[in-house]
Amino acid sequence: MDELRIALIGCGMIGQQHIDRIQNRIKNAKVVAVCDVFEAGAKKGAEIAGEGTKVYTDSAAAINDPDVNAVVVTTPGAFHKDPVLQAIAAGKPVFTEKPLTNTAAECKEIVDAEMASGKHLVQVGFMRRYDRGYKQVKELIDEGKFGAPMVLKCTHRADGVDPSYTTAMAVTDTAIHEIDVLPWLIDDEWDEVQCIMPKTSSKAHEGLKDPQIMIMKTKTGIVTVLEVNVNCGFGYDINCEVVCENGVINLPCPSFPTVRYANNVSTKIEDNWILRFMDSYDVEIQDWVDHALKGETGGSSAWDGYVASITADALVKSQTSGVAEKVVTGGTPDFYKK
Ligand code: NAP
Repeated sequence: MDELRIALIGCGMIGQQHIDRIQNRIKNAKVVAVCDVFEAGAKKGAEIAGEGTKVYTDSAAAINDPDVNAVVVTTPGAFHKDPVLQAIAAGKPVFTEKPLTNTAAECKEIVDAEMASGKHLVQVGFMRRYDRGYKQVKELIDEGKFGAPMVLKCTHRADGVDPSYTTAMAVTDTAIHEIDVLPWLIDDEWDEVQCIMPKTSSKAHEGLKDPQIMIMKTKTGIVTVLEVNVNCGFGYDINCEVVCENGVINLPCPSFPTVRYANNVSTKIEDNWILRFMDSYDVEIQDWVDHALKGETGGSSAWDGYVASITADALVKSQTSGVAEKVVTGGTPDFYKK
């Protein structure tokens, strides 16, 4: 295989972005078919992909098209399972947006199907592993001179959310990125997680608990304190400070000019997640293409997606229990050991 000929399933917001990305910025890959349950959505996707793109409303038909040799899934999380399983059944590499699926039980079905196929076919779109800043922090940790990490202090702040955003989504949609990227960063696994509810912001819509503090401990005893605060009102503000035995490493912030004006020194905070992580999506999709062409996967595996889902379930449970909940995965199968 020297080129991925992709069927993209789900032509919504990020689906449209990925079509544009693949057609215009990614090498050795092309979207040849698009699918959306609503024909109008699929047609919009085809318009972005360009002339000759096939339009489907049934994911199995798109995935099994003989001209298709790879799949990208960008439906909402609740509809990831079927196309991912269809791609595995067809033996075609599949990149699925995060989360792998919305429930741990469904993630397990995917893990079992991939292991039964005997091939590494599934990559999950946790793009922070491809962010330049996180990669630099990881390199510094791995260098060793800072000593062992002991504490991580993180913030995941957003300007505001729409009224459909729920208390659980602070975990499943927002903290899910830290749930995946932090164990990768420090080469460890979650052991127990707890969610504490501080005073709720007057800007949170009715019924939403915001901010939330998530305390997550790894198997070797490293503690993360994560503030999720989705009504901060001042921008998209991602921070991660790693306190090690001999020093402290801070995740670089996007670089904007520092200005001195009207008795103030100030700099900008990024507006939203699209702009903050724009470059990492390009790197992520190119890396998936490069691996898939060699019959491999990079980034987060189906197992990583399953573990993220188990961890999220434990945190959501703690949102009501208030106590630390254990993260029980049963151990990484040999198939997924690196
Ligand atoms: P969206 O705008 O709602 O797009 C989803 C699209 O899929 C819609 O066009 C929807 O059609 C279509 N669809 C729904 N069920 C389908 C099915 N069974 N088969 C084919 N198409 C189907 O959602 P989004 O914001 O793009 O999010 C999509 C996924 O990307 C989610 O899993 C989300 O978590 C993930 N995401 C990841 C990041 C990241 O940072 N990595 C950022 C944003 C989103 P209708 O609208 O007509 O129902």
